[in-house]
Amino acid sequence: MRDRLRAVREAIARSCDAVGRDPAGVTLVAVSKTFPADAIREAYDLGVRDFGENRLPEAQDKIDRLPRDLVSDCTWHFIGKLQSRKVRAAAELFDVFHTLESDSQLREFAKLERKRDALVEVNIAEEPQKAGVLPWDLDEFLAQALYCERVRVRGLMAMGPALDDEEAMRPFFRRLRLLSERLSEGAWLSMGMSSDFGAAIQEGSTHVRIGSALFGERR
Ligand SMILES: *Cc1c(COP(=O)(O)O)cnc(C)c1O
Repeated sequence: MRDRLRAVREAIARSCDAVGRDPAGVTLVAVSKTFPADAIREAYDLGVRDFGENRLPEAQDKIDRLPRDLVSDCTWHFIGKLQSRKVRAAAELFDVFHTLESDSQLREFAKLERKRDALVEVNIAEEPQKAGVLPWDLDEFLAQALYCERVRVRGLMAMGPALDDEEAMRPFFRRLRLLSERLSEGAWLSMGMSSDFGAAIQEGSTHVRIGSALFGERR
């Protein structure tokens, strides 16, 4: 993992260089889904502090296996589909929610005792069946989220279509950045995965979600 992490960090730095960005402005979210708690511990020992998980029971199980001081030293990112009835349980574990997309989620967040950071997931390629708020519904959803005192909308997230060509993804990353201009200065942009984070960073990503490039192929 040490070599893979070094390669990812170097690639992040190169992409930042190419467009004159400071690598400190890009958070590497290590997507540990399907990998065991030991893999998280190994990444932690190598300096990783941000982890992304997409399933609540799996995350709960792993977090239970990790030492408390490690858990509290990390930022936990929820990147999976978030069912509204799971919001309360997820809020016990996670610090940042990347997949805010529905009024029913907002209603559940509203019942919590304190505020959580969230990103609004945008269905950036307007794919049917895909999660996320459609671009033309974004303003209305953002206005609604603003009324929810327990959600701090920090920016936008997108998954994008699964294209194997990084350059083909670039227009979607660009579109998400343009959409984020309606948010305040310094809004977060969660975009870019193992296969395309270089283009995502050049287009303004602040949070790259990287799994296989760090942990290896998932089974
Ligand atoms: C699995 C996953 C990733 C990481 O994918 P890799 O291609 O392994 O880097 C990123 N974002 C989300 C939402 C995911 O579910």
